[in-house]
Amino acid sequence: MHEQEVDVAVIGAGSAGLTAWRAARTHTARVVLVEEGQYGTTCARVGCMPSKLLIAAANAAYEAKRASALGIHVQHVRVDGQAVMRRLRAERDRFVQFAVDNTEAIPAEARLMGHARFLAPGRVQVGEHTVLKARTVVVATGSQPFIPPEFKDAGVRLHTSDSVFEWTRLPASVAVIGTGVIALELGQALHRLGSRVTLFGRGTQVGFLDDPGLASLSTSLFSVELPIKLRCEVVRVEQKSNGVALRLRNHDGDEWQEEFEAILCATGRQPRLQGLDLQKAGLELDRKGVPRVDPQTMRCGDSAVFIAGDASDERAVLHEAVDQGRVAGDNAGAWPEARPAMRHVPLAIAFTEPQLAQVGMGWKAMQGTDYVVGSVSFSEQGRSRVMLEDRGALHLYAERGNGRLLGAQMVGPRAEHLAHLLAWSLQQGLSIEQMLRMPYYHPVFEEAVRTAVKDARDQLRRPPPPIEHCDDCTPGV
Ligand SMILES: Cc1cc2nc3c(=O)[nH]c(=O)nc-3n(C[C@H](O)[C@H](O)[C@H](O)COP(=O)(O)OP(=O)(O)OC[C@H]3O[C@@H](n4cnc5c(N)ncnc54)[C@H](O)[C@@H]3O)c2cc1C
Repeated sequence: MHEQEVDVAVIGAGSAGLTAWRAARTHTARVVLVEEGQYGTTCARVGCMPSKLLIAAANAAYEAKRASALGIHVQHVRVDGQAVMRRLRAERDRFVQFAVDNTEAIPAEARLMGHARFLAPGRVQVGEHTVLKARTVVVATGSQPFIPPEFKDAGVRLHTSDSVFEWTRLPASVAVIGTGVIALELGQALHRLGSRVTLFGRGTQVGFLDDPGLASLSTSLFSVELPIKLRCEVVRVEQKSNGVALRLRNHDGDEWQEEFEAILCATGRQPRLQGLDLQKAGLELDRKGVPRVDPQTMRCGDSAVFIAGDASDERAVLHEAVDQGRVAGDNAGAWPEARPAMRHVPLAIAFTEPQLAQVGMGWKAMQGTDYVVGSVSFSEQGRSRVMLEDRGALHLYAERGNGRLLGAQMVGPRAEHLAHLLAWSLQQGLSIEQMLRMPYYHPVFEEAVRTAVKDARDQLRRPPPPIEHCDDCTPGV
């Protein structure tokens, strides 16, 4: 076994790992990048990019059919599933090639192939060929689909987001297990492309919004277009010659069977940490086996290990992987100085229709703060009605007293753009009054933000509601 001494070992050549490598390299030349699989990143191969390519085709089909509501009749909309998947893969491969080229631009002597695992603090074995003696290590090993045990052991051909983009044609029918972002994005796209799709979820709501009003609004809006069965569990799954049979049970205990050509398991993702032998690195792990991390430095406890990207189980989205990679790599390279970095405000988007977005702290995290909710419904919003995209609502939260924006959630049109406006306002620390002083063109979707901001301003001007009289305010009674 070859022994190599380095200053920084980065494990994982995904978006977080590549950024970490470059950041560490600004401090020292002795940085090595370890990868056990293919170069190309999850984002480009099986994540952000192929999913958005599928959605682009699906929305084109949907728009063509929906145009009749505007008086435009498109005859015979025909989805050529093979052509859809061909374009998806061709464009996907282009994005992957950029990522591969980017990785291969790193000098060959700074790259190692093989599975990495800790032997001891500061000692990492790569494959069966190298032991790295590293001053610091950045773990950037990403995440993987979580497969519930009832599916894992069922012996059926199960698809996840890791395999759907390899389909060369669209299945006639797909059971989508899960109601989170990936389930909604892929399920709605397949439905719009003509597959018979049903989403099955154990919970009562879809998507990721935790503002109760918007969570239930999202569920009802998506249920209008898509067959969604909630509070429902899969009792058994069986392989058939032409697909799969699902035995299902609802919350009333009723059982029934449904058959589909394909089954797509979209029941969440989990950090890919098993097989790393993290306990040998002397790290403190939480219940899920994830190292405890300082989100300002990305350092794990008081160790010389840093973590970045989906592996950190913090905010599993691309721009955060890149941010965390930069912070982790910078601090690993500058070791032993671990400088706290400014992190961006939380921002999450689902590319469904209507889109979902969350900016800033979630609704649950905000409880206990004195805040008002400025809201707007898209059903009366000018541009939304013009474009026939008038479904949904936006809530923005502002702190009573200083009038600062705290966050926002929305289900509605163009959330990917409105959410940026709100995230930038939040990051700048703008107050509701300052947001009102910004320009708003007419007629645009952004005017909905102004309506919600005005609503928040009106509420901030009103005196706070009186504290309800309480005869016996003994705590705990
Ligand atoms: C279907 C889907 C759609 C998505 N859409 C979006 C979106 O629209 N917007 C968005 O912001 N995010 C989206 N995401 C999330 C985004 O793709 C991820 O947050 C991001 O790619 C994570 O990057 P990473 O560097 O942490 O992990 P990865 O890119 O997965 O990199 C981890 C690397 O580590 C390697 N590795 C793992 N273990 C070891 C080991 N022991 N030794 C050596 N190498 C190892 C892996 O092989 C892999 O190459 C989506 C994800 C999915 C699955």
